[in-house]
Parts: sequence; structure tokens; C-alpha cells
Amino acid sequence: DAHVRFEGVAFGYDAGMPILKGIDLDVPAGTTCAVVGPSGAGKSTLARLLYRFYDVDQGRITIDGQDIARVRQDTLRAAIGIVPQDTVLFNDTIGYNIAYGREGASEAEVAAAARGAAIAGFIERQPEGYRTRVGERGLKLSGGEKQRVAIARTLLKDPPLLILDEATSALDSRTEGEIMETLAAIERGRTTIVIAHRLSTIVHADQIVVLEAGRVVERGAHAELLARD
Ligand code: ADP
Ligand code: ADP
Repeated sequence: DAHVRFEGVAFGYDAGMPILKGIDLDVPAGTTCAVVGPSGAGKSTLARLLYRFYDVDQGRITIDGQDIARVRQDTLRAAIGIVPQDTVLFNDTIGYNIAYGREGASEAEVAAAARGAAIAGFIERQPEGYRTRVGERGLKLSGGEKQRVAIARTLLKDPPLLILDEATSALDSRTEGEIMETLAAIERGRTTIVIAHRLSTIVHADQIVVLEAGRVVERGAHAELLARD
């Protein structure tokens, strides 16, 4: 479980140029919080603070009550899975791309992650071993397939906390729908932060926070906000 809280968080990339101001968020363990807002509102910045690409200027971020500034970087990052908008893959096998960073994973675990992400069709054992199974290479995949590889990576990592940063924004609407279904499966049981431009693309979320120019301007349950939209 991972109960995430932002308490009075402020941050700017450059001194005197605040990007996020007074951000309060409370995401109970296992729930999904959508952070919605226009381009430049600070949504990705918020996610970067949680992953500690950067440290906050003011306030604090806690996971299960622990200030993340005091958690070891590798421990923190092991607990967080990120599915970005555009997944960059290596020009290597799908299996390699799924297992990258988790080289200790067993074949069975990698295969299970691939199945979970509905790319099992790409995984094929060859006599010479997985590494030499070329078949589909990462770079040859479509946008949707790349996102499935990112999802499989996340399944293999099995983190309690998930950040979906416009994970389906670059896809056509049919593919988007399919990937959303797969995403719903990996969200189950994990604390999830979904980042999106538009409220209407949020299929389900326990709470929605609307960010504008670095401030929370609205928050509420899904239906409430949709009704006001
Ligand atoms: P969103 O994800 O909502 O589109 P971002 O968090 O990416 O917004 O960006 C918020 C603001 O921070 C924007 O004005 C953007 O130009 C600025 N910004 C983002 N990344 C950097 C960076 N690495 N250095 C300086 N400014 C940045
Ligand atoms: P190596 O086994 O030589 O380290 P990789 O670095 O490609 O090869 O793979 C790392 C791990 O990922 C391996 O332990 C293997 O279990 C798993 N793996 C890699 N590719 C596949 C694949 N195509 N299908 C299933 N598992 C794979």
C-alpha cells in the first residue's frame, strides 16, 4: 500500500519562478487520483517531484507518512512505476525491453508480465535463448504496442504506486480504448496518479484534481466534476 500526500508543496525550476504553488493532495492507498489540466499547468512537474527528479522548495510529500526526502532514492523509485506518454524502447527484443532494469526476473515472470499487458504473442522461446529471439524489435512497434511494453515493464516491477503520465495521449482513439482497458487491470490494488489534459478522457478515478497555472483550482469526485464540465 502507498498512501500519498502532498502538503503545501511549492516548486520552481528556477528561483523566483514558481511552477507549483500550495499543492495539497491526499491519495489514500489503492485509490486513483486524476490530475487534469491544460498544457503547462504543472502536471508532469508534480509527478517528477513524487519520483524525486527534483526536490520540493516548500512543503512535503509523504508516502505512508514518510517524507520522501528522507527515503533512499532507489527505495523510492522501486516503489513507483511510470507509464509515460511516449515509451522509448531499445532496438532489442520485447523481452529485453520488458526486463530492462530487472535483469534478475525469471523467464516465467517476464512472460506473465507480457501476458498481463496482452503482448504475449511477441514472446517466444527460441533454442538460443530469449536474448537472441529477435522477432519484433522494440523500435518496430506501433505506439500502442510500445505502451503495452511499458505496461508489461510496470507489471514486472509490481510497484505499489503508479504514475500514468498521459499514457494514452499519443494513440488513436481505438487503440487508446484498448490500452485503457489494460491499464485498468494494472491499476487495481495500486495507488495511481493519472495525468491527463481533459476531464473527458478520465474513465474512472476516485478523485479528480484540476490544476491550472500550478494551483489546484477544483477537486472532487468524477461524476461531480463531469457534470460541471
Ligand atoms: P504539464 O505537464 O501540465 O503540461 P509541466 O509540468 O510539463 O506541465 O510544465 C509546467 C511548467 O514548467 C511549464 O511552464 C514548463 O515550461 C515548465 N517546465 C517544465 N519542465 C521544465 C524544466 N525542466 N525546466 C524549466 N521549466 C520547465
Ligand atoms: P539474459 O538472459 O542473457 O540476461 P536479457 O537481458 O535479454 O537476457 O533478459 C533478461 C531477463 O529477461 C532474462 O533473465 C529472461 O528471463 C527475461 N527475458 C528476456 N527476454 C525474454 C523473452 N523474450 N521472453 C521471456 N523472458 C525474457
